[in-house]
Amino acid sequence: MRLENKVALVTGASRGIGRAIALAYAREGADLVINYAKSADEADSVVKEVKQLGRRAIAVKADVSDDAAINAMTAATVKEFGRIDVLVNNAGVGVVSPSISMEISAWRKCIDILLTGVFACSQTAAKEMIKQGGGKIVNISSVNGMTGIPERAAYCSAKAGVINLTRVLGAEWARYNIRVNTICPGFTKTEMVGNLIARGLYHEDDLLGMIPLNRLGKPEDMGGAAVFLASDESDFITGQTIVIDGGWLSYGYLESYLKRTRK
Ligand code: NAP
Repeated sequence: MRLENKVALVTGASRGIGRAIALAYAREGADLVINYAKSADEADSVVKEVKQLGRRAIAVKADVSDDAAINAMTAATVKEFGRIDVLVNNAGVGVVSPSISMEISAWRKCIDILLTGVFACSQTAAKEMIKQGGGKIVNISSVNGMTGIPERAAYCSAKAGVINLTRVLGAEWARYNIRVNTICPGFTKTEMVGNLIARGLYHEDDLLGMIPLNRLGKPEDMGGAAVFLASDESDFITGQTIVIDGGWLSYGYLESYLKRTRK
């Protein structure tokens, strides 16, 4: 197994991409901390799924925009498992708003969760990783961090920030034997995207028309790269970004958005 006896903390692991990564890690032999902010029942059922795979797991509630909660989550991880080998910064929210009318408080909240939260969780976990001689950090950014999508100013800015934060920390923490890399999922069928489709903010046909591989991503599509970046196989890789999007970025643009909004 590729993560035998490693301890992994996955933020936002109560469903979607975080859950899929947690289960992929458990299948490769890792023990898990399943973080969530609100969805205690969902987090508990992921803990059960991990245990059914023969690994240990606990659920830990912590909002990644709350510094004290992050410290408590890290402490709970170390108390339960003695170490943190892998941190996956996955927790996130979808924020869509016309930039002209977006409340500054909504901008700040988005940046707090999606960018400052990644930094704060990384810093806190890195202090433990340094004590134990190293570790792996896997950030979940987005294709929205690599291109400009209308009405997603805060989300796109935060996700772009994560990509460059990855480069900085990859270079800076190499001396501590900590690797930092990022996965950029494309449009993936989770509650987040389902809600945006239900609200008419995305149109599934438009999305499929922009994805060469002709389907939305599945949360499980992120598991392979996440395992690779957490395992010894990626020991000479740091500061990098892997895009998993069915070809969207190499092709895509929001053609239908322009059609709908042009006078
Ligand atoms: P999701 O199904 O909505 O799941 C989001 C997870 O994050 C949940 O476990 C949620 O738990 C947790 N969460 C939300 N706010 C939190 C906070 N402040 N503190 C701690 N946990 C929090 O979303 P997803 O689609 O799997 O997205 C996961 C990550 O992938 C996000 O960073 C997202 O931006 C990124 N991403 C998604 C897509 C996509 O198409 N789905 C594409 C690119 C990137 P609670 O319910 O307990 O809050």
